[in-house]
Amino acid sequence: MLLQALQTCSSALTAYILCIAALFGAAMGSFVNCASARLGSGESVLKGRSHCPACGHVLGAIDLIPVAGYLLLRGRCRYCGARIAPRCLVTELLGAAACVSLVLCYGVTLQAAAYAAMLFMLLAAALVDLDTGLIPDRLILMGIGAFLVYALFQKPVLPALLRGLLGGFAASVPLLLFVLLADRLMGRETMGGGDIKLFFMAGLYFDWQRAILLLIFSCLCGIAFAVYAKKKRGAEFPFGPGIAAGAFATALFGAPLLNWYLGLFF
Ligand SMILES: [Zn+2]
Repeated sequence: MLLQALQTCSSALTAYILCIAALFGAAMGSFVNCASARLGSGESVLKGRSHCPACGHVLGAIDLIPVAGYLLLRGRCRYCGARIAPRCLVTELLGAAACVSLVLCYGVTLQAAAYAAMLFMLLAAALVDLDTGLIPDRLILMGIGAFLVYALFQKPVLPALLRGLLGGFAASVPLLLFVLLADRLMGRETMGGGDIKLFFMAGLYFDWQRAILLLIFSCLCGIAFAVYAKKKRGAEFPFGPGIAAGAFATALFGAPLLNWYLGLFF
């Protein structure tokens, strides 16, 4: 009887924590979407209240509720009826999915928080990259800063820092060498430096084995996005979203996949 009550209680608590994670993730996704639009257009990220890009009306509380706000307003501005970009809804859902899956994988831990910080930074970089084809250094520096804070909470600190640095180099140096070679062979710039810096930032959060996995996952996602975009729009597709998707996959499946792979040999 008592055991049953405890079980009900703990599953209710789990559901509650997951709900909070989903709400937090959706709100962060909404913020990241807004911030990336401002970063891309050079506006200040934090100053000024959110406004409709079509009519300029300052948004009220209902307009700002993640996911539900979009659905309640049927994807249109309450003041002028302009369509709200579906991308708002997509980033809110992605944010919620990221936080819920991180909590399911890692629980309510510092590691889950660090991965969430990295993924939101990558999401912002991916959105700015989609809009402008550039990745702001500011986002990369913030990602490095968040890693340093995370490493300071590890015990002992120095090995954690070194492990991260090794991951950062493992994710970025092979690509750098490849790009230098490709540039020389093709006689033009094949890939922006922003992508390589972004790989370094994301690699900090993994050990070197998973950093290599990050490189592989990101290239696969990047190629898939590029092929899809070529078919759909006949256009080039930036690499930022591929890196963000690759990092998400590595954070969730990197460790079990590596364990399985190494188990084949040892
Ligand atoms: Zn409007």
